[in-house]
Amino acid sequence: PQPVVAVVGRPNVGKSTLVNRILGRREAVVQDTPGVTRDRISYDATWRGRRFTLVDTGGWEPGASGLQASITAQAERAMSEADVVLLVVDAVVGPTATDEAVAKVLRRSKRPVLLVANKVDSESLLPEVASLWSLGLGEPYAVSALHGRSSGDLLDAVVDAL
Ligand code: GDP
Ligand code: MG
Repeated sequence: PQPVVAVVGRPNVGKSTLVNRILGRREAVVQDTPGVTRDRISYDATWRGRRFTLVDTGGWEPGASGLQASITAQAERAMSEADVVLLVVDAVVGPTATDEAVAKVLRRSKRPVLLVANKVDSESLLPEVASLWSLGLGEPYAVSALHGRSSGDLLDAVVDAL
């Protein structure tokens, strides 16, 4: 069985865009409407000759238990099923209460968790990225999933953690 890498985080932070960037193709559905990814979709990915299963998460049952509870439940599930978890946050927005709740859950993980600061389309956002250290998950990887900025460094870290 291949190692599993799960991508978690709030709607609209760019999880599916990051998945497409990692795959090098457009398979994950990206939308401006939050929560479009129905449930969890797995893809085969390869980086530097290492194969892994990449799981795009998203979507929640409206009215079920609220967004924050739903995203934290998703993170718990990712922790139990994945070898490496990527928590994606929106660097432009900065850490939200939901990001903090999810990070708190993920800090209990025995598996590696990498913090991805997405939407860093320009250097001017690097101070925002530094503020994400407050999530207690170590150094944020600053990337722009949309433009490809530094996604190679992130992937190097992912396969190192497998
Ligand atoms: P998801 O709900 O977390 O899967 O987010 P999506 O991948 O569907 O992206 C939500 C929105 O954010 C879309 O409009 C994307 O084009 C946009 N987006 C994703 N990554 C980036 C990025 O690196 N920079 C910018 N500026 N926008 C991004
Ligand atoms: Mg999505």
